[in-house]
Amino acid sequence: MTLQDNFGRRVEYLRLSVTDRCNYRCFYCMPEAGFVAEPRANLLRTEELTRLVGLFVGLGVHKVRVTGGEPLIRRNLAALVTELAAFPGLEDLSLTTNGDQLERFAGDLAKAGINRVNISLDSLNATTFGDITRGGDLDHVLAGIERALEVGLTPVKLNMVVMAGINDGEVEAMVDYATERECHLRFIETMPIGTSGAGTMGLYYPAQKILDRVRDHCGEELEPVTGMQGGGPASYFRAGRSTVGVISAMSRHFCADCNRVRLTAKGDLVLCLGREEAVPLGRLLRDGADDDTLRAAIVAGIQRKPEGHGFTSNEVAGGVPMSVTGG
Ligand code: SAM
Repeated sequence: MTLQDNFGRRVEYLRLSVTDRCNYRCFYCMPEAGFVAEPRANLLRTEELTRLVGLFVGLGVHKVRVTGGEPLIRRNLAALVTELAAFPGLEDLSLTTNGDQLERFAGDLAKAGINRVNISLDSLNATTFGDITRGGDLDHVLAGIERALEVGLTPVKLNMVVMAGINDGEVEAMVDYATERECHLRFIETMPIGTSGAGTMGLYYPAQKILDRVRDHCGEELEPVTGMQGGGPASYFRAGRSTVGVISAMSRHFCADCNRVRLTAKGDLVLCLGREEAVPLGRLLRDGADDDTLRAAIVAGIQRKPEGHGFTSNEVAGGVPMSVTGG
């Protein structure tokens, strides 16, 4: 059985938020103070999340990315990962983390069944890093990256949100850092998502400019890569044994190929990155729904997956030329 939406897109990829909390306060993502967390009692327990993910896998989802909030602050994440990894249909179980506690947990998570990891790294300068994350410690993250490489959570992907006047001077240094370690690097345009994303669109730095700079920096070495796993919105280039990519949700629409949905820590099935609409699977589960009912709710929800994320050029301050039309 497969999940197909009304626009012919097959949904095969689930982002699983295991907590809404984070130990960082990246200024483009969360407010400095006053973040209202979901009451703990509403967050799904290991067996509840496992049950829902099992239904998705039974419906043809074969990739799950564990994310947050910050997933490594969920207590006993490895136990959940062990349960998820046991689903025979699940081919790819990955993790997205800020890396702060990865040095400590990478080994256990690899043993539990995580096969690769994405790490957010917005700066290689400790002061800039601390400013962006509002208190994050760069050394922790760098140690986490080395540990992930050691325990084989590869390919390690590094994600850098590039922001004008904040960290845009570090594009070339980041390419060197990633390629020296054979990490894959993704530069990300700022997006109007999360509680603080829209407010920071004035720092928007366009993907094309990043690409031009990466090309200048790498010169002849840079050859385009096609058919990357989970490619979606990015343009990828090979640089030695690494790849460098640019994810441009704003300047290049990727909705037509979108194969993903998100399950929040309280069990809401969110159908699109840029929209609020959700199916309350967690509530149904706790109201006693059986598997058939939950499966039917998932299938019906996928039919309501919107055609596009609807970000528009109006959300980008600073007069950057855009080709986004919304949808
Ligand atoms: N805590 C984990 C982490 O730091 O990777 C996982 C959750 S975090 C929300 C996932 C990714 O979303 C990070 O790479 C972060 O940089 C990115 N992100 C958050 N807000 C964003 C925004 N407004 N524009 C672009 N990327 C954003």
